[in-house]
Amino acid sequence: MTPRQRKELREHIDVSIRQTIDEIAALEARSAPIEPDCSLGRLTRLEAMGEQQVNGHALSEARIRLNRLKYALTRIDHESYGVCEVCEEAIPFGRLRIMPEATRCVACASRKEG
Ligand SMILES: [Zn+2]
Repeated sequence: MTPRQRKELREHIDVSIRQTIDEIAALEARSAPIEPDCSLGRLTRLEAMGEQQVNGHALSEARIRLNRLKYALTRIDHESYGVCEVCEEAIPFGRLRIMPEATRCVACASRKEG
């Protein structure tokens, strides 16, 4: 990875962290508990609860991503950044651009998931 690419990724991580913080704030607002005596009908209330569950899931995903991004930022100047933690091959720059918090190459990441 060239110093220029590293700088580009650092800026990308900074932006992603800010976006994720905004996303978390928006999701937190939307997944506030539903008042039991709210004037919604039963079906609407069930729908609202379903939506709340989806928001809650998105919220925990966003929090995990935020932690990973912050971790990536602490590692960006280290030699180990951008190197797959499993096979120790360099993670392609294209993947890091999309997912700067990645600690595994595509092959190792999909092996773990599959
Ligand atoms: Zn790998």
